[in-house]
Amino acid sequence: MTDRRTELAANLARVEERIASACAAAGRPREGVTLIVVTKTYPASDVRILADLGVRQVAENRDQDAAPKAAECADLPLSWHFVGQLQTNKVRSVASYADIVQSVDRGRLVDALSTAAVRGGRELGCLIQVAFDAEAGERSGRGGVAPDGVEALADAVAEAQGLRLDGLMTVAPLAGPYAGDPRASFDRLMEISTRLRATHPAATMVSAGMSADLEDAVAAGATHVRVGTAVLGVRPRLR
Ligand SMILES: *Cc1c(COP(=O)(O)O)cnc(C)c1O
Repeated sequence: MTDRRTELAANLARVEERIASACAAAGRPREGVTLIVVTKTYPASDVRILADLGVRQVAENRDQDAAPKAAECADLPLSWHFVGQLQTNKVRSVASYADIVQSVDRGRLVDALSTAAVRGGRELGCLIQVAFDAEAGERSGRGGVAPDGVEALADAVAEAQGLRLDGLMTVAPLAGPYAGDPRASFDRLMEISTRLRATHPAATMVSAGMSADLEDAVAAGATHVRVGTAVLGVRPRLR
């Protein structure tokens, strides 16, 4: 559908403008922020159009949808990010197409990802997902580890065969002290990132910001924003 192409091109241009303005307002170079388009619930045909429009980073959150989509798009010059809660029984599949798993939040997952990466002969980038709505020592029901668990998990990833520690990810929390204040949660993520980079200098990625709050993320210093709705439209089903 050429109409779809026109629509996606217009949406992408608007998002690009938002990122560029946010960078300018923050005094940051535009190249300091990478757009990842979250293509979950949308078909491989949209991914193909996006790739043709210059998108190079896409993200998915469910292996059942992502695996066939990535296979259909294997000829495209795309990096695939996995951003959803990840069960260990899906790890082998995800590790076969994902370049970066952004939702690493527990030791068991680190072990499973490492085993799968080694078995598949691939190196997997990993981001520790930080949850600001989780109690100390706990994980969030929406995925992610409380800030006090980041260091140990980061060390585990850095020591695991087949894995590469790339940085941190968060989703603005709906509960807890930062609910309703995405900027404050992103600022806090940046502080944790600064601390992490003291011991893991290569872990420079900071993935934060979605359609509704990408400006806050860019202002805080995010290196990657994950945008779905603003590029592809409102998703038919809530996930
Ligand atoms: C769906 C999703 C996004 C994109 O959200 P939009 O509001 O559609 O831009 C970003 N990150 C994660 C982890 C997601 O699941």
